[in-house]
Amino acid sequence: MKTQASRAEALWEESQRLFPGGVNSPVRAFRAVGGRPLVLASGRGATVTDADGTSYLDFIGSWGALILGHAAPDVVAAVSAAAGRGMSFGMPTDAEPQLAHLIRSAFPSMERMRFVSSGTEAAMSAIRLARGVTGRARVVKFAGCYHGHSDGLLARAGSGVTTLGLPGSAGVTNAAAAETTVLPYNDLGAVRTVFAAHGETVAAVIVEPVAANMGVVRPSPEFLEGLREVTERHESLLIFDEVITGFRVAFGGTQGRTGIRPDLTCLGKIAGGGLPLAVYGGRADVMDALAPLGPVYQAGTLSGNPVAVAAGTATLRHLSSGGVYALLEERGAALEAGLVELARRAGVVCAVAREASMLTVFFTQRPPRNLVEAEGSDTERFGRFFRAMLTRGILIPPSQFEAWFISAAHEPADIARTVEAAGEAFREAA
Ligand SMILES: *Cc1c(COP(=O)(O)O)cnc(C)c1O
Repeated sequence: MKTQASRAEALWEESQRLFPGGVNSPVRAFRAVGGRPLVLASGRGATVTDADGTSYLDFIGSWGALILGHAAPDVVAAVSAAAGRGMSFGMPTDAEPQLAHLIRSAFPSMERMRFVSSGTEAAMSAIRLARGVTGRARVVKFAGCYHGHSDGLLARAGSGVTTLGLPGSAGVTNAAAAETTVLPYNDLGAVRTVFAAHGETVAAVIVEPVAANMGVVRPSPEFLEGLREVTERHESLLIFDEVITGFRVAFGGTQGRTGIRPDLTCLGKIAGGGLPLAVYGGRADVMDALAPLGPVYQAGTLSGNPVAVAAGTATLRHLSSGGVYALLEERGAALEAGLVELARRAGVVCAVAREASMLTVFFTQRPPRNLVEAEGSDTERFGRFFRAMLTRGILIPPSQFEAWFISAAHEPADIARTVEAAGEAFREAA
């Protein structure tokens, strides 16, 4: 019998001649874990299949966007129907208000909103708006929080920047970086110190209310409450970047869970149901400073794209119809418990940090509270663990500093299979 040449291998070779590093977004290159990246051809439910026809149980889920799994039938139907009615108009459409109402029902703090095409755009625009409204320049962010790749927000940004061990990025001017103050996550004392000295210069504090781009790092309850209190007192804006947590940790995101009302919120990923759509919104008086009403400019040819809006609407409708979050919590808890137990049996030092249906396995004694503690994880061991999982047909994010995402398409048998594979992988990686 003749062995067939690997189509995935050939495509990867070709991609490296066409795209820097062979990819269109850095973490996909598997640099942190070694080996050849997957080249995927299709996905259905919790499974993805590569160009050679090999299938994997997927815990990336397009970095959390696909909370209903790949090619969810109701979302696919909505997208097909919308595409048939026209791909883009660059004009208001009859579809936009529907999605906005769904979003506002989940996030009452988003009195007005604007649709954009990526989380990067949402966070960048929210910052510009905060600066425009307050007349102040400084932005406070937290090390390990990722808010997209706009210049001023790349400092100590987590996600790919941390995966690749970069302090930030070449090409970002000192001037842009100087207006960003980076503090340790969960360190309210540091926030208070900055505000005591420079409060009148701070336009906004931007935070992932549950951090998921340095791996999952949960906030202490006092942290988010303290941020609300201190920003209010100094008339700075509080921006919750819920691009990951929105519609993930609960339908109403972290703000729904905690009852803390930010001034502005960024959404993305799930909000677009797997198509390029993101949102920023918040207080009406702040949002009304945007052009054409106010002096802060922001625009987009494909903003509110009807096909993306259809994907988002179908996804949010499904999520609002009940039952999904209880199921996701159950799956998350089962996966966490199984991983903890099998790591213990393998004698591996490991902490599983979980919030709802997202989690990270850290090779640390305790779940990290900030980026420095997250970076204490044994990333060499993570690389071995990742490869051992992949060999067993389980695809987890190819970086220590990302979250695994469970979807509604993951069945109890998938969780059991994953735990079993992890038991072997822990031993192999030890
Ligand atoms: C993914 C992400 C972004 C950036 O979104 P893109 O669509 O990749 O530009 C911003 N903030 C957070 C919290 C994210 O997880």
